[in-house]
Amino acid sequence: MKMVYGYWNKFLEVDLTTRSIKTTPFNDEFARKYLGGLGFGAKLLFDRVKRGIDPLSPSNVLMLMFGPLNGTCFPGQKACWIFKSPLTGGIGRSRSGGAYTTELKRAGWDGIIFTGKADSLVYLYVKDNDVEIRDAKHLAFKDTQYTEHTLKQELGDPFTRVVCCGPAGENLVRFASIHSETSRAAARCGGGAVMGSKNLKAIAIRGTKIVAIKEPDKFNDLAKQIVYRTTRARGSYPFRQRIARWHTCSHAGTAHPLRNYSWSGDVEEAYKINTERQERRFYIRVYSCSSFCFGNCFEHGMIRHGPYTGISGENSEWDTSPTILGTGLTNVEAAMMAVSLLDKLGLDGSSCGHTIAWAIECYQRGLLTKEDTGGLELTWDNPDLVINLLKKIAFREGSFATLLGEGSKRAAKKIGRGLIEYACQARGLENAAVDPRGAYSTAVGQATSARGGGDHLTDRSGHLDSLCVCLFVRLAVGGPTNEDLVNFVKYATGWDYTEEELTKTFFERLLSLQRAFNVREFWPTKMSEMDYNAPKFYREPIYAGPMKGTVLDKSQFEAERAKYYTLRGWDERGIPTKDSLANYDLEDIIAELEEIGVYD
Ligand code: SF4
Repeated sequence: MKMVYGYWNKFLEVDLTTRSIKTTPFNDEFARKYLGGLGFGAKLLFDRVKRGIDPLSPSNVLMLMFGPLNGTCFPGQKACWIFKSPLTGGIGRSRSGGAYTTELKRAGWDGIIFTGKADSLVYLYVKDNDVEIRDAKHLAFKDTQYTEHTLKQELGDPFTRVVCCGPAGENLVRFASIHSETSRAAARCGGGAVMGSKNLKAIAIRGTKIVAIKEPDKFNDLAKQIVYRTTRARGSYPFRQRIARWHTCSHAGTAHPLRNYSWSGDVEEAYKINTERQERRFYIRVYSCSSFCFGNCFEHGMIRHGPYTGISGENSEWDTSPTILGTGLTNVEAAMMAVSLLDKLGLDGSSCGHTIAWAIECYQRGLLTKEDTGGLELTWDNPDLVINLLKKIAFREGSFATLLGEGSKRAAKKIGRGLIEYACQARGLENAAVDPRGAYSTAVGQATSARGGGDHLTDRSGHLDSLCVCLFVRLAVGGPTNEDLVNFVKYATGWDYTEEELTKTFFERLLSLQRAFNVREFWPTKMSEMDYNAPKFYREPIYAGPMKGTVLDKSQFEAERAKYYTLRGWDERGIPTKDSLANYDLEDIIAELEEIGVYD
């Protein structure tokens, strides 16, 4: 096969049912059209996952995908996980950082496709071309930190990278996440549960190869420029001083989910637990996802006071704020303990936190009683309650915690009594800590997002998720512009994309592809019947702050959404038109949708 620079032209395909491993090659036409990461995964998911399958059955496919910049010295590499989501029933996608994002490419693979289900708990060991399915029974229900350390010790190589699910994944908690280095999480959409459903505990990776790139000197020079610009140039200081500072509680009082969004905008309340307070109490060091990144996004610390003394972990940040601010916690030690538990148990801080916050609000309103909660009193700012519930949810202890592990939408529907009105989710995925009442663009973005609630940015960054480039690096002052990304791709692969192709054609193709997967899954329900924010946001105004009193008006939302559909090339039902699909070379998708009567 002809060499394609920036790729190895092959996926590792692992059938866990038959315990067989094979190489699945792809050609450069596929690579040019879908680029990598999410692009590869979205296409393969559409082709391989049959409509209507149970996401937690062996029929689901779990994919770990990379792009042409992984395994190089590009600063800010990510991995992309793609699967059918057990929370939404639509496309599930989640990205994460960590050293494993370079390691698999260096082992000579562009991605891994898992199918089937092992008959007992296993892990996959990849050392370059040597690939084995190994027994992992001794890791059953162990936390992510223990799992990683144990595997590294057993394998005798500290440079082996491990990515795994925690007990929540094994127990099929629908918002279980996938972790590397304990706290680097592919958190959203329930990938950890899909991993657990396949009896796959972990992947251990060691790569020693060099990814061939077309113009290494130019590539390295550009990478050096980006590092210089983002760390030395005027205006870069805030980025160098940790993204944590601008994506934590302290700077986004209006947008944050205080008490299930009932106290949104109360900056004073948010400040009780802000980054600076957490730093003063815990701070040990900052670090980045991998040695090539300069972001220093993560702050490691240790609790030094109170009942959780000695527990180490990370400060809370954006994605864990639903668990912290959402449940009303104001004690910084309890907040850090909760974050540490989310990481070790393998739980998505957004979905888990929103689900607990939903339950507390319903209890406070008298809609849930002790009879429903198994005797638990659900109150705001209750560290013991939150910490106990996290453990109970991960281990599915008791009927109430088991119900919460289904996610807020399923739990609300099961109980009934109008509880769905308070579940802050869209299409089953809980919001990602951004209040949609602040702007209609955010509200429409969240409601129409391919993966469901709370995802107003990632749909617009499809080229980043396919190149597996970190969004924070892209947004940093001095970070790589789209023009830089075009050049990185050119120097890596030798391919001349235009900026328009990379950011528009490719982006629209990817968006339509993901949308088409959801259309096929949910048909005959129209997407326009599902593309809404949680009912609460159309009813309750923002509580305080500069946006106080703002609420979503449903008619205005629908008008803005109609404009968005037109812009995307979707009809009034929210379905991509045949013309728009053809425009993005997705004719095979048209045939699939025609077959089930979408265009009749
Ligand atoms: S910018 Fe931050 S989140 Fe992104 S790759 Fe670098 S350290 Fe990781």
